[in-house]
Amino acid sequence: MARGKKSRTLELDEYVKGIKNSDISYLARAITLVESNLPEHIRIAHDLLSQVIQYSGNSVRIGITGSPGVGKSTFIEKLGLYLLEKGYKVAVLAVDPTSPITKGSILGDKTRMEKLSQQPNAFIRPTPSGGAMGGVGKRTRESIILCEAAGFNVIIVETVGVGQSEVLVRSMVDLFALLILPGGGDELQGFKRGSVELADVVIINKADGNNYHLAQITLNEYKQALQYISNPTDGWKTRLILSSALTGVGIEEFWKIVDEFKSVTVDSGVFQLRRREQILDWFYSMVKDQVLDSFFSNQRVKTLVQELEHKIFLGKISPSAAVFDLFEVLKNENIIGYKQ
Ligand code: GDP
Repeated sequence: MARGKKSRTLELDEYVKGIKNSDISYLARAITLVESNLPEHIRIAHDLLSQVIQYSGNSVRIGITGSPGVGKSTFIEKLGLYLLEKGYKVAVLAVDPTSPITKGSILGDKTRMEKLSQQPNAFIRPTPSGGAMGGVGKRTRESIILCEAAGFNVIIVETVGVGQSEVLVRSMVDLFALLILPGGGDELQGFKRGSVELADVVIINKADGNNYHLAQITLNEYKQALQYISNPTDGWKTRLILSSALTGVGIEEFWKIVDEFKSVTVDSGVFQLRRREQILDWFYSMVKDQVLDSFFSNQRVKTLVQELEHKIFLGKISPSAAVFDLFEVLKNENIIGYKQ
């Protein structure tokens, strides 16, 4: 990018043109724009999305989750390189649920997917920095639209096995894959069950070397357990495979499953239906955010809420009665407005 260009704010038609030309530097800047909270950026971002949304959708959207260290970046890099060879254009986005304990990123700042990131038909968006809890993945749906409009036809959204972020990513992808390590099949009744219930494909990674035998045992344990676990996609039985992201074993099989998943769900209409539901889900979640933001930033609400909080602490009123009182006072007031 030419010097000086970076500091200049682009015009809307420059963004649109850059994206339609599949120019990665414009795509990166467009994503930065939609992630921005500055009012002047929000306005252009809305217009930009409205102009390019008609070019989006021609893709398969894949979510990949798993605990730190399970091999997600290694797997995604191998998969990405495999798909580039097949002529696909691959975008990788990340939803990083900032650790509530260290306040740092869970996915990590290490240089990820170095080989893939150097390929012209790959686009890797580093984790948005400083994402506070609550803002997790807020703009990922917008980024998916922008990547697709720029011609990327495989979109991979990576996240970490932390409940809320997995549910969020599940709500924006077609197929959701869970990477696990060999061993621990007995945990399936516990904390892992929630993640498995979201997955269309469970991948037992690091099925190599000394771990291979254990991986086979885990495969069998999961096979049994999956019979009693509900599947997230109508008409699709959750698949189970072994992989070694390090050597590339399992990558081709995974892609075959993605292909099959797409054709089965497109034929049954589940694919299209899910996408329609997801876009409405997106709309409603933004309406909710807007209502909450606008409501709680209203000065009158702030004052009333503070007074009620005080009464609740003193034991003078119950929380439910306080909510009733709050809305009694507010019912004739015009509280909610669009807030940037
Ligand atoms: P992430 O935190 O889930 O993204 O995990 P990484 O992809 O960074 O991998 C963590 C470590 O596991 C790295 O040292 C990888 O080289 C290693 N690793 C990843 N996949 C495999 C695999 O299939 N087999 C083995 N033996 N090691 C792997």
